[in-house]
Formats: sequence, structure tokens, C-alpha cells
Amino acid sequence: MTALFADVPGQGRAVAALTAAARRPVHAYLLTGPAGTGKAAAARSFAAMLLCPDGGDGTCDTCRRVLGGGHPDVVTVEREGAFITVEAAREVSRLAARSPVEGNRKVLVLQDFHLVREAGPALLKTIEEPPASTVFVVLAEHVPPELNTIASRCVRVDFAPLAPSTVIEALVADGATPALAVELAAAAGGRLDRARMLAADPEFELRRQAWLSVPSRLDGRGHAAATLADELIGLLDRSVAPLRARQDQEMAQLAARNARALEVNGKVGRGARGGLKAGVREMEDRHKREMRRQRTDELRTGLAILAGVYRDTLGAATSPAAQRASVDSVRLITDLGAALASNPGELLAVQALMARLGRRSVTG
Ligand SMILES: [Zn+2]
Repeated sequence: MTALFADVPGQGRAVAALTAAARRPVHAYLLTGPAGTGKAAAARSFAAMLLCPDGGDGTCDTCRRVLGGGHPDVVTVEREGAFITVEAAREVSRLAARSPVEGNRKVLVLQDFHLVREAGPALLKTIEEPPASTVFVVLAEHVPPELNTIASRCVRVDFAPLAPSTVIEALVADGATPALAVELAAAAGGRLDRARMLAADPEFELRRQAWLSVPSRLDGRGHAAATLADELIGLLDRSVAPLRARQDQEMAQLAARNARALEVNGKVGRGARGGLKAGVREMEDRHKREMRRQRTDELRTGLAILAGVYRDTLGAATSPAAQRASVDSVRLITDLGAALASNPGELLAVQALMARLGRRSVTG
């Protein structure tokens, strides 16, 4: 295996499609798949293949500069606020019209284009009829209706959710112990980016131990159940700290960019000012959604660990009553896991679960 696509584990089919495409490229590709499946890394390797004078061996100067993000003919367009603005779409058109700096080809990587919204039409013509030297690589987590027309002009390459074994291998390669890698992969639900975030989260193991300890600490009394619920929700509250730090940083960067924009164009019109404000609001909304998702992911992870403990007790149960109690407990936990998406009352739900599990621990 060459250095190219080495950081795109578990996507053999997509990598094969891109490798074949690089030999005779068309003008636009759409890479779709969930977050954390390696689309951006694959786009870098694909760009290297397109520009490499040696047919994409991954080791020449050109390849290394593309992979390192320092080649002038590979331009990545990232969104500034929560969605792709019309202004960003116009910038893409301007970039596409420019001649390559070094060779005879240029690659434009457009990130997060499931968030293209009303900027779609502004881009369509450019993507339909780009200069012969330009290749577009559009990345999107899914294809919303606004992206349909653009998608129909691109060759589509799908990125599948990662298999647990792929995530485990990648984490071990990062330096995690195999045992921890198994826990992290299970907790991250197929997302390598989330698994890596958890690997860097000092409290992940603490949370895991807390959920593992639940059955042994329930004694059938309401007080123990309530204490446990409080403790678990407290850990859940703290689990958002790494995400919050990242969001604060994003918001500070946006504020700095907006301040610069106002400074540069001393007399920014009311419309542009409104646009900047709308960008901030969009980011706040997205941050709230991310936070909500993080808590739900985290609670689901905890419930999955807890269900695992009761499944183990089922295997060890000697009486039918004890077996029934284990089965009931697993069902209660999985029911709550399934209801989470529609149930915003985390604390109440976990309190109720602990109380019910506690009663079963006595009758079992
Ligand atoms: Zn090369």
C-alpha cells in the first residue's frame, strides 16, 4: 500500500473507485457518507493522485505537499458559519476560473456541502461547466434536496459507516491498548472521529466505571437510586466539556473574522451586517444541536454498557426468577435507549430507570 489513502481505513470500495477515477478524471466528484468516515482524508489522497507527475505514488514532492495541505493547486473551501453562503459559492466560482499555479490541473475540495442551502444555484453553472483544468471534489454527509442538481452533475462515491473492527484497528494504531480500543469503538458507534475524541477524554473511563457499578449499588431503596441518577447525570453534564471547548473556539474565530470584515469594509451595508449576525445565530443553533446530540450519544453509550452488565448476570443466573429479573432489566434499559430521541427529560428518565432497576434487584 502506498502512503496515499493510508489514513482512510475500511473504505476499500470508495478508495478503489477514486483510484480508478484518477487515471481518467471527469470534472466533478461527490463523496458522500456519515461524519468520521474518512471523506476529507480520501479527498486529499485523490487530489495528490490527480496532480502527481508520477501517477500517484504518494511519495514525491507534489504528493507530500498535497497531503500536508500546502499545495497551491489544491484549494479547500470550508464553510465559515453554519452553512455554505452565496458569497462562498461565488468565491468558489472565482477560484475555479483561475489557472493552476504549478501544473495543468487544479483541485477544489468543497466541504460540508449537505449544508449548501440557497447557495446551490450560484454554484451549479460552475460545476456544470468548469474550466478544463479544474476538478471539483464535493464532500457531503448526505444529499439534501438543495444538493440534488449539483449531485446529478457529479460522479458519486459513497463512504460506508465503519465496521467496529476498523475503528478498533485505527485506535490501536494511534496507541490505545486493544482493550480500551474495543470499549471506545463500541462507545463511538462506528465514528472514528468520535472514538478519537473519547480516547482524548480523561473522564471516559470514569463514566464507564460508573455505569458498570450501577447494579451492585442498587439496594432497592429509593435513596440509592436517586443518588446514582444524580451522579450519572453529573458525569453526563461534564462529558460535554471537550465539545464545549471546541465550540467556544469556533465562536471566537467567527467573531474575529466578522470583526475583520467590518474593519476592512469600514462601511459595511446593513445587509452585510445582517448576514454576519445571521451567521452567528446559525452557529449558535448548530452548537445547540451538537450539544444535544453529544448528550444523547453519551447517554446511549452508558445505557449500552449497563445493558451489557445485566446480560452478563443473565448468563450467570441460576434461578428462573433471577433470569427473569435480568431479562426485564435489559428490556427497561433498551426501551429507554430507544425513547431518548423523543425524550428530552434525561434526569427524570434516568431516575425512573434506576428506581425500576432497584426494585428488580430485590425481587431477583
Ligand atoms: Zn506523487
